[in-house]
Amino acid sequence: MRQIDHHIVGGAGGSSRFADVLDPNNGGVQAQVALGDRAVLDRAVAAAKAAQPAWATTNPQRRARVMFDFKRLVEANMNELAQILSAEHGKVIADAKGDIQRGLDVVEFACAAPHILKGEYTVGAGPGIDVYSMRQPIGIGAGITPFNFPAMIPLWMGAIATVVGNAFILKPSERDPSVPVRLAELFLEAGMPEGIFQTVHGDKEMVDAILDHPDIGAVSFVGSSDIAHYVYNRGVANGKRVQAMGGAKNHGIVMPDADLDQVVNDLTGAAFGSAGERCMALPVVVPVGEDTANRLREKLVPAIEALRVGVSTDDEAHYGPVVTQAHKDKVEGWIAKCAEEGAELVIDGRGFTLQGHEKGFFVGPTLFDHVTPDMESYKEEIFGPVLQIVRAPDFESALELPSKHQYGNGVAIFTRNGHAAREFAARVNVGMVGINVPIPVPVAYHTFGGWKRSAFGDTNQHGMEGVKFWTKVKTITARWPDGSPDGGNAFVIPTMG
Ligand code: NAD
Repeated sequence: MRQIDHHIVGGAGGSSRFADVLDPNNGGVQAQVALGDRAVLDRAVAAAKAAQPAWATTNPQRRARVMFDFKRLVEANMNELAQILSAEHGKVIADAKGDIQRGLDVVEFACAAPHILKGEYTVGAGPGIDVYSMRQPIGIGAGITPFNFPAMIPLWMGAIATVVGNAFILKPSERDPSVPVRLAELFLEAGMPEGIFQTVHGDKEMVDAILDHPDIGAVSFVGSSDIAHYVYNRGVANGKRVQAMGGAKNHGIVMPDADLDQVVNDLTGAAFGSAGERCMALPVVVPVGEDTANRLREKLVPAIEALRVGVSTDDEAHYGPVVTQAHKDKVEGWIAKCAEEGAELVIDGRGFTLQGHEKGFFVGPTLFDHVTPDMESYKEEIFGPVLQIVRAPDFESALELPSKHQYGNGVAIFTRNGHAAREFAARVNVGMVGINVPIPVPVAYHTFGGWKRSAFGDTNQHGMEGVKFWTKVKTITARWPDGSPDGGNAFVIPTMG
């Protein structure tokens, strides 16, 4: 059995616990991943501590060059990385490449380190006084990441954390740990010093060790909301800087004037792509008015029935299996629950099997109509290929649904009316908004982050918010006296007036 080990200085080893890494296409176990503990983490932290000071004083242009080389290496290894990612996660190869590319977009942003690290300077803030600021790294940072984007999310965090001068320890999901290990290998190959980007594996025990470690100054987490909340609280209680992104239930509002063919096209991709296992998926559609709902449903049903579910290496497949049998059971449980709650089950994806892959974790596309806001299956994240139609009588009630939902990650409005779109974007209580864009994941030089239970902490991922999260600002007030007496009174708070 293949073993996946930690990628830390001095080599792995030392773990006595292991978890199975499953093969979502066929069921069964394809590898075992080591589950680390405090002792493994201590070794990684010691290496990080030894390497970080020299890295922090390496000029930013040289640190950026490592990013340039890393980008080139990832591109050269794109096919191999996508294969590994797809084999452990179950997303189709083209989508796996998108996962990697979205991470590389952040690496590209990190290549601008010399520019983004420039501080502020005021000449003559007072008589003979200059004030300037600089951004300094935290020291050692950690990233704890979910299974659904095993390349993109580690790079959201790791590229920025390291390029600004930190050492970074990644604790990826134990469900698909191989790509994160390859990323650590490629960083080394790109010229990053040993100890600056390390990968440790594990479950709650390793997460707790990270949250309690006195030498780790900042923790970035992405995963489900309850765990995000826990990580946030425990990390902050230990005096760390923490950002913790959580789950989602994104709504797509369809106005009566929307181009419904385009909406159906966008919706099928956004609801079922990656088997719905995206925090920016659109699992809820809200047509405004009965007529819009009926017209939309009429077009949606044949489009969903035409979707091809296949193994993740099938070039023709729209989506592949979900990540584990346990997750398949959970998604099918939600389908049963939604039906019990009284919604109309229009297309039932349960019991789907693929010939030759009967043990694979496949769930067929599922559509519900007449879902209502009081249903548990509406309130909670399903994270599978399940689309729920919630009918709204008018714009105001449609706006209220995502605004009042416990999650506030992303939302989209489909309309030809600029005023409605503008009004919606300004008023909706959600962090990322798409206007005729179904999955409004901001580009790497903007920032990513939801609201409400979709994110704990106040700093977003990547872009300048990422730089802010991974650095501390130091502000210097300097006076170079010319020797003449200034007559100031040392007992009065100094003012520049
Ligand atoms: P998860 O919460 O199960 O796991 C995330 C990380 O936490 C993993 O590294 C895991 O090992 C660790 N973990 C698991 N159980 C733990 C525990 N009890 N204590 C401490 N740590 C624990 O999430 P997942 O299933 O891997 O990922 C899917 C979830 O992530 C979904 O809810 C999805 O919406 C969310 N997500 C959010 C974003 C975002 O940016 N908001 C992006 C991607 C995924």
